[in-house]
Amino acid sequence: MTETDDYEHYEAVVVGAGPGGAAAAAALADHGVETLVLERGVEAGSKNVSGGLLYGEESAPYTLDDLFPDVREAATERPVTEYYLHNVAGRQVETFDITDLHEHDTEWSDAVLRRHMDSWLAERVHERTRETGGGLLTDVRVNGLLEENGEIVGVTCDELDPIRADVVVAADGVNSELARDAGLMDWEEPEEWFQGVKAVVDMDPDVVNERFDLDPDEGVAHLFSGDLFEDVRGGGFCYTNEGSLSIGTVFHLDSLVAEEAEPHELLDALLTHPLLADWLGDDYEELEYGAKLVPDSKKAAHPSPHEGRLLLVGDAAGQMQAQGPIIKGMNHAVSAGALAAEAYVEAKGRGNPKSAGKRYERRLCDEGVMDKLRPSGYRVTSALGEHDAVTGLVDGVLTSFAGRAAVRALGGRLEALYGSPYLASIVPDTRTPYVTLPTVIAEELGAHVTSESSVEPPSLADRIGDLTYDTDIGNPHIELRDASYEASGAAVTACPVSAEDFGGGCYRSETVQRNGDEERVVSLDTQPCVECGTCAVVADTEWEHPRGGKGVEFEQG
Ligand SMILES: Cc1cc2nc3c(=O)[nH]c(=O)nc-3n(C[C@H](O)[C@H](O)[C@H](O)COP(=O)(O)OP(=O)(O)OC[C@H]3O[C@@H](n4cnc5c(N)ncnc54)[C@H](O)[C@@H]3O)c2cc1C
Ligand code: SF4
Repeated sequence: MTETDDYEHYEAVVVGAGPGGAAAAAALADHGVETLVLERGVEAGSKNVSGGLLYGEESAPYTLDDLFPDVREAATERPVTEYYLHNVAGRQVETFDITDLHEHDTEWSDAVLRRHMDSWLAERVHERTRETGGGLLTDVRVNGLLEENGEIVGVTCDELDPIRADVVVAADGVNSELARDAGLMDWEEPEEWFQGVKAVVDMDPDVVNERFDLDPDEGVAHLFSGDLFEDVRGGGFCYTNEGSLSIGTVFHLDSLVAEEAEPHELLDALLTHPLLADWLGDDYEELEYGAKLVPDSKKAAHPSPHEGRLLLVGDAAGQMQAQGPIIKGMNHAVSAGALAAEAYVEAKGRGNPKSAGKRYERRLCDEGVMDKLRPSGYRVTSALGEHDAVTGLVDGVLTSFAGRAAVRALGGRLEALYGSPYLASIVPDTRTPYVTLPTVIAEELGAHVTSESSVEPPSLADRIGDLTYDTDIGNPHIELRDASYEASGAAVTACPVSAEDFGGGCYRSETVQRNGDEERVVSLDTQPCVECGTCAVVADTEWEHPRGGKGVEFEQG
């Protein structure tokens, strides 16, 4: 570290200590680059929520264990060795074994809990970056870019003086302050995002093994689609951890808003479905309720994720891939983080550090990462199929006598079609693959589930009450710019800690008298906010992260 103009200078500053930031920092440190990592959580992982299946892809330029060889042994939960998709129509269920799809291009895949994994990675990153003269600091929120004469020269923070750097790697996740500051990402379009909501359920490791029929070194992923979530486009998941389950839902944000669906109720619909009764038993105990927004890479992955000395990696660059029923974000963040680091090292080696951005962009393409994030086949299917009229027509055919007969005739061959990696990458984002087709499959081919669920999920108030917060009185991190229901009402239902008839969440709606007229308005309390970012897209708000260490602290993630 050197000091110039009273500001500290590091060769590299990495913002965020999720998988993208950890990978970038480790790769930079291994090349001897003086690297400072800044993380806003009290500990790495305390702000993070993921499903979360971590993939080590065969074709990826980097996997997490390339950079942290002990990570699987020390910081992941279980290898996931079986993968099932359940098509649901009421109590009728048709299950497909799509383990082949899960194993396609997969060297390994493990279930992870983010607080544990990210904090383990952060310790390693701190050791390695310390060797370069840098290190990792938690409790620090970077709030923008330091610019001079129109050029990015570092970052500004809430808790520290500005810091100069030759390269800034923004690995600050889906609600990236730096990507927004550089004009590389905005929050305009709900169709570019998914919202994920998740419960971590306590379960003794032996009980997990027994109820899911697993050996201790095996794990399973169950996915759910069909009429479980009414018409909302998305699905559910249940992953086995070592001594807990991760159960959640991921929905297209525009669909959640259009259906005025409440995320916590959709999660409860999954938790209380009879299909899960034998797995969950009658001793349901929820350890944590969490939520987060994720970008849909097909629409949001930035083709040129850099500006001057700033390189964006992972969710900050929109690199979260939903490939049919498979979700891959952490692995791409790792690849991108390491490629960004390599690009900087190469550029510096050639005496032109400013060319790092272009080199990084080229490496993302040459290594095939961009092709996975924005598959060309999807561009064709979305252009042809993502129109209400086409969806209505296809759904009409599917639910007709002839469509049902075709589903019956295809029978077992449907399982193979669902297992096709190519088809998974081009699925259009319409009601058909999420709701209509799985419902028809279950109705025509499914078996009746007889179990009865005794699960009673906690109320929203209890879920919120169980979370840990460090409130920052006097420093609200969300400001409601337009309180009219038309502008901001969607947040009342879409916010995962709010609900239409619930007064204890973040957003509330009420009818007030103004100038003799009745007006429906929205009010905001930022206290139980889980910092998912949803309202930044669906409401007229000014949104930023809370200051370092403040706000929600996830124990599981
Ligand atoms: C419900 C759900 C299910 C998912 N399932 C999967 C799955 O099964 N498999 C998968 O691979 N992916 C999954 N994802 C997506 C995955 O979690 C993300 O793609 C991944 O975490 C992105 O990694 P990242 O390093 O880019 O960002 P993040 O993991 O979000 O890390 C960003 C880090 O930056 C820090 N930060 C943010 N802003 C600042 C700031 N201003 N200053 C300092 N620090 C800051 C944050 O605290 C955080 O630690 C899921 C996501 C959700 C929500
Ligand atoms: S207030 Fe906004 S950011 Fe906070 S939990 Fe609700 S939707 Fe998410």
